[in-house]
Formats: sequence, structure tokens, C-alpha cells
Amino acid sequence: MKYEGAIIRPPSEAESLILQITVGCSHSRCTFCPSYKAKRFRIKTFQEIQEDIDEAAQFGRAIERVFLADGDALIVPQPRLREIMDYLNEKLPGLRRVGTYANAKGVLKKTADELRGLKEAGLGIIYLGVESGDQVVLDRIKKGTTYERLLQAGRMVKAAGIKLSVTVLLGIGGSERSREHAVATGRILTEMGPLGDDRPRHPPLRGAGAGAFRPPDTLRIDRRAEEHDCAYRHARPLLLQPCLQLPPSQGEDAQG
Ligand code: SF4
Repeated sequence: MKYEGAIIRPPSEAESLILQITVGCSHSRCTFCPSYKAKRFRIKTFQEIQEDIDEAAQFGRAIERVFLADGDALIVPQPRLREIMDYLNEKLPGLRRVGTYANAKGVLKKTADELRGLKEAGLGIIYLGVESGDQVVLDRIKKGTTYERLLQAGRMVKAAGIKLSVTVLLGIGGSERSREHAVATGRILTEMGPLGDDRPRHPPLRGAGAGAFRPPDTLRIDRRAEEHDCAYRHARPLLLQPCLQLPPSQGEDAQG
């Protein structure tokens, strides 16, 4: 397999063949995400992808899952994506599921019919980067999208029958917007519909973007959050997560 640069995949794709069909991320501006900054975005040629699939095909029926990398592989135009899916199905007879990362732009570039077509061709799961439901936070982290577009993208994925896995970032609002971040994120998750056990689990990456959030060595629990009575079923677990706070300056009360 001819990988370019570091390859990142969701933990649940540990057993999957990683097929790199794009290099980098077409957005690559999120302040917290250092993953693809060193890569110049491009879509690999079909010949490059074919060669990797041919190599993987030597393992016969052993490959049951494929994860399409890099950061937002769903951005690949539909005809090319279908070509790749068809070739995967032709060459990997044991294939049961294909997964990919996506952002709102990549999903919304597809029509409902195109997403259903990808589902029929084996696209079984999309990992959508939501990060926050709070528009102020989304703007600060340069997510390049809105609450409404993220919600629409999540709903489209589910309507196509594709499993939706959502990433949100605990603490990304900092202490100042901890509550707004938690409530709005709970709201968007609730409005996307039942997500099963896809609870957010991972803390934010450390020190990835200047000014995005505080270093986690100053973590404290915001106890006030426990008192918050929230209508959104996904908000409360978020509120109870540590919020990130500045250490007190000299002479200042240490309590937040
Ligand atoms: S978080 Fe996703 S959309 Fe943002 S830069 Fe990283 S890979 Fe790209």
C-alpha cells in the first residue's frame, strides 16, 4: 500500500484495511486539528487506488472492512467514488463494510440518491466531525460550517440508511462557553436522532491550535454544570465533563 504521510483512522476501524483515496483534508483549517496540515490536499488517481486494491486483493476473503482515508474522503466526486466502491466489491469478495470520515460539506455535496447509492455499494458508516453545536465555538475553531448544515448532514446520512458516528470535542468551548457548548451540542445530537451508544468519549487533542482551548493540566470539574437542568438528552453527560479553565492569576480566587 502506498500511503502518503501519517494515516489516521477511528479506533473502531483498527481491523480495517486503510485505503487512502485522498491525501489530506479539503478543509484543513480547523484550529484544533493538526492531522493534515503538512499535506497538500489531492484526490488520488484511480490508477493509484486500483494498484492498492489489487495488492490488498491478494489476501482473498480475509479483508472484511475497508476504511477510506484521509480526512474527508467523502468529498471525492460521486462518479469516482462509485468507481472505487465497485472495484472494491469486485476485488474483495469478503467485503462487508466500508467506512469514511466526512464533514458537512462532503455530505451535503451528495444528493439523497447518491448517498443511498453509496450505501447500496457498501458504505456502511460515516464518521461525521460535528465538534460542537455552539455556533460561536464552531466559528472560533474555524469549522467552516453551521449548526444547521451539520444537522442536515447528519440527518441525510441516517436517512440514507448509513450508520452515523459523530465526533464532538469535550472542553473545546473552554470555561467561558462550557455551558453553551454542552447544551448546544446536546441539542444537535438529540435533533440528529437516536445515536445508540455513540457517546462522545475522547478528550481534545493537546495544544493543537493557538487560542483554541487551554492546556489540560488545569482541568477542574465545573460543579455548577451538575445543577443545570437540560432538556436535551445528550447534554447532561457533556455538562458533567471537565471544563478547561485558566489557572488563577495572582491574588485571584482559585474557584471558578
Ligand atoms: S477536523 Fe476534519 S474538517 Fe477539520 S481540518 Fe481536521 S480533518 Fe479537516
